[in-house]
Amino acid sequence: MAEVKINELFVPKGTKRRGGKKLKKDNGVCVHEAGTPNAPAVNHAKNQYNNCNAAVNGWHFTVDDVEVWQSFPLDEVAEHSGKREGNDTTVAIEIADKVTTGEYWQKAVDNAAWLAAWILKQKGHTKAVHKQNIWQHNDWSGKDCPKQIRKGNPVSWAAFVANVNEYLAAMIAPASAPTPAPAPQPQPDKVLVEGFVTRLYAASLDRAPDPDGFNAWVNALLNRALDPWQAARDIVLSDESIGQRETTEEWGKELYRALLGREPDVDGEQGWLVRLYTDMSRIAVVDGILGSTEFSGVAAAMGF
Ligand SMILES: [Zn+2]
Repeated sequence: MAEVKINELFVPKGTKRRGGKKLKKDNGVCVHEAGTPNAPAVNHAKNQYNNCNAAVNGWHFTVDDVEVWQSFPLDEVAEHSGKREGNDTTVAIEIADKVTTGEYWQKAVDNAAWLAAWILKQKGHTKAVHKQNIWQHNDWSGKDCPKQIRKGNPVSWAAFVANVNEYLAAMIAPASAPTPAPAPQPQPDKVLVEGFVTRLYAASLDRAPDPDGFNAWVNALLNRALDPWQAARDIVLSDESIGQRETTEEWGKELYRALLGREPDVDGEQGWLVRLYTDMSRIAVVDGILGSTEFSGVAAAMGF
């Protein structure tokens, strides 16, 4: 469920109803039902505000099926529980029992659970536990309040507290959930990677790799510090490779052996390589082969 809107209409300071004392300790929230038929939450807020010198009793929040009204700051004492300790240590929620049946009442009680979770989160609690940080008015004074929930309407007290905990967990989760680690990629196939590097050397450099160079290329590929596209481009377009060939056409043929492990086909590709004499750069030819689905297949076979 989405957030419930919290409206503020604070009881004026220094009035009979709002003495301004700070809570002595944090014992979480105390749940009440207002016992006032036909009154939505806003009526209770206005009543506390307008009659601020008419009575000492007060409560922090009133909630109904659509919204919350806050009348006292979270850290101030309100006289709601009938006991000094309850008043000095808990934040009061009154559920507006405009009606105590049907969708209205279900939603109001559900919103009260959300509100209890929200208050507990503001005060740093991570789990609601009855008589530690969530209380019935009844726990303090023995009054039959919250009356409907105490009879299981629309849910039992235990189910209500469980609902508070669900909301609380959801409120806490987004900030503290660890970012899942990406699934480790399997290592590329060592034999195929070694064969690939050997072929790049043989075809484009006309020699077997020196051990240091060979190990450096193979390890970089196995550790995925390089991918086959980068490694092939670096070797095939190295000064040593380009300096190997007398003719650019022969150099082009070597590309097919090095990158794809085969000869260029006679009809299309050899003719295409002739263009190396004219309008295509060597880099464009290399990138053309590296960009082909055939080379992607070569890379995929190795595990890239
Ligand atoms: Zn009460």
